[in-house]
Amino acid sequence: MKVRDSLGPEAFRGEKADMPVLYDRLLKLKEMFNSKFGSIPKFYVRAPGRVNLIEQDLLIAVEPVETYTLQLANTNPLYPDFSTSATNIQIDKTKPLWHNYFLCGLKGIQEHFGLSNLTGMNCLVDGNIPPRSGLSSSSALVCCAGLVTLTVLGMNLTKVELAEICAKSERYIGTEGGGMDQSISFLAEEGTAKLIEFSPLRATNVNLPSGAVFVIANSCVEMNKAATSHFNIRVMECRLAAKLLAKYKSLQWDKVLQLEEVQAKLGISLEEMLLVTEDALHPEPYSPEEICRCLGITLEELRTQILSPNTYDVLIFKLYQRAKHVYSEAARVLQFKKICEEAPENTVQLLGELMNQSHMSCRDMYECSCPELDQLVDICRKFGAEGSRLTGAGWGGCTVSIVPADKLTSFLANVHKAYYQRSDGSLAPEKQSLFATKPGGGALVFLEA
Ligand code: ADP
Ligand code: MG
Repeated sequence: MKVRDSLGPEAFRGEKADMPVLYDRLLKLKEMFNSKFGSIPKFYVRAPGRVNLIEQDLLIAVEPVETYTLQLANTNPLYPDFSTSATNIQIDKTKPLWHNYFLCGLKGIQEHFGLSNLTGMNCLVDGNIPPRSGLSSSSALVCCAGLVTLTVLGMNLTKVELAEICAKSERYIGTEGGGMDQSISFLAEEGTAKLIEFSPLRATNVNLPSGAVFVIANSCVEMNKAATSHFNIRVMECRLAAKLLAKYKSLQWDKVLQLEEVQAKLGISLEEMLLVTEDALHPEPYSPEEICRCLGITLEELRTQILSPNTYDVLIFKLYQRAKHVYSEAARVLQFKKICEEAPENTVQLLGELMNQSHMSCRDMYECSCPELDQLVDICRKFGAEGSRLTGAGWGGCTVSIVPADKLTSFLANVHKAYYQRSDGSLAPEKQSLFATKPGGGALVFLEA
């Protein structure tokens, strides 16, 4: 089996020895594929989750077929088989069933090349990223499906193009995501964290300090972002805050969608943007009527032209808090990178402080935490983390903590005892709930020899 650098056709690299665990999983997948479809896959695609875990990823074994039927199967029996005509892809936004995430990736590529129909394929999906836990299993699936489709078509795209297409097409599931997850799934590189920036999309290496380890801990509270409106409400609050800020600064506000755009248009620093936010917005929640008054639009226009369908009926928008969170978080990201570059003696402590501030802001200003996450963050700090925060969208899912390397063993043991071994036995965590992680590589294609 050959490993193909996903996107350049000429670049083959690595063989079995590089990735023994992955290789074993691929062999198992090949056997299961054979018993399911009665044939051997032609290639495999792998895409990682978001905190970018070496061995936690999503794999798809693929065989293009002559019929125009797309058949999807999953090694996990919780995800039922699915089959559809490849000439008529429909994504049901009202029910975020697993196969719809695959269809998002497929549709993104199909539309990019302006193809109305595709050849069929048989696919077997095998994922081990904890789902609905903020590690972006959804984007791994969308990105994997996008790369599967590209490979079946025999086309080429750059990683950046693929990331942009998949970021856009995951929105077919109904979540208004920004593109961070899809970007890192393609642009990740082993051994380095990445700072992701947009317009234009780019990824810069950030070298993490050697004396510390990043540990993921799952709160075991699951939250499907497409099945509830929490996630989209935040996106809409940010969108409305951006429009009000743009209007306040006499910019053309109707085209503005993101807070970042207002800062870019004004050409000022994040710190200055925080001051503008204080002047322009008030901490009291906004009603839809007040927003309409500020923007000079009707309620009907607000609903149909700005809000997403699952946020039509929201009555309270906390614009000030959401904007403060977003700008301060962006500033913390830059500070994090700067500290990593300058690497002062107390690097780990400084990074930890930023992560703690970030969690507080998520909890109090963005309100995307939950009691279990807050408790887990406290436990992690108590047992040696210099900093701890929720990761991913929130409302459940995982925390990431920075732990001095020499405290790792006791940290893992104590957190396990304090959070996962509950006396009432209410938590039966999977073995993947608490683990140290390192930056791993991005999406790849493996060709069957
Ligand atoms: P996350 O934080 O993991 O991205 P989301 O709520 O965005 O959580 O998406 C989770 C959904 O992705 C699951 O409910 C499921 O439909 C899909 N999914 C994740 N992993 C798999 C998998 N291994 N096989 C099939 N579908 C998966
Ligand atoms: Mg997701």
